[in-house]
Amino acid sequence: MKRICILFCVLTLTTFGLMAQTEGPMPMKPEMTEIWDPEVRVVTPGTAPMDAPSDAIVLFNGTDIESEWTSGDGNLPKWKVENGAVTVQRGGGIIKTKRVFEDFQLHIEWRSPSEVVGTSQGRGNSGVFLQERYEIQILDNYNNRTYRNGQAGSIYKQNAPLVNACKAPGEWQTYDIIYTAPRFKDDNTYFTPPVVTVLHNGVLVQNNVQLRGPTEYIGIPEYNIKKHGPGSITLQDHGNPVSFRNIWIREL
Ligand code: MG
Repeated sequence: MKRICILFCVLTLTTFGLMAQTEGPMPMKPEMTEIWDPEVRVVTPGTAPMDAPSDAIVLFNGTDIESEWTSGDGNLPKWKVENGAVTVQRGGGIIKTKRVFEDFQLHIEWRSPSEVVGTSQGRGNSGVFLQERYEIQILDNYNNRTYRNGQAGSIYKQNAPLVNACKAPGEWQTYDIIYTAPRFKDDNTYFTPPVVTVLHNGVLVQNNVQLRGPTEYIGIPEYNIKKHGPGSITLQDHGNPVSFRNIWIREL
């Protein structure tokens, strides 16, 4: 009996010792939230883009970026306007709308560089951040595999697109984004989460999807839900010369 008691004590102490050593969550790495399979099915989209309707706010008409946009620090945008488009300047930082929005319909056209450089997340990467914190990924996924929840038309690291509707590098592409902002409870968590529908080149890729929280490159979105008000549309500088044109928005 004495031996059994001693054995029990040793096992118990060993168990608690191991628990103490492994206490707390394991540190996360970027690849821990990447989902690769199954690969998103490819669909070939149609051709025509969409002009602004009469009640839209035109955010970029191809020539004037300074009226509606600033850089992240509130100064003039550092991106280059040329030939009817505005293009990411590597190191220039984000650009964001001066206006802030809640619920909206957004139309935006983008073009990844015709010269193909890089692979996976390194090719034609930018992004449209809704209310400055929820990213709809922009990426050249024309014959370019990456993790499915990080490719063009994904809600970055939250929801893969239904299909891959990418056009070839150098071709203009469209996103039409219908967004309902979150409403919050008194404890600053979501009463209703953000909800988004996205059409990529006219093809439905996100269908009324509830977001889990703000976009996180590393970690779990739910951990960083905080109450926020209306926010800008923000375009990402990911170091690749992605261009934009014909950006308009309808407040809902
Ligand atoms: Mg991006």
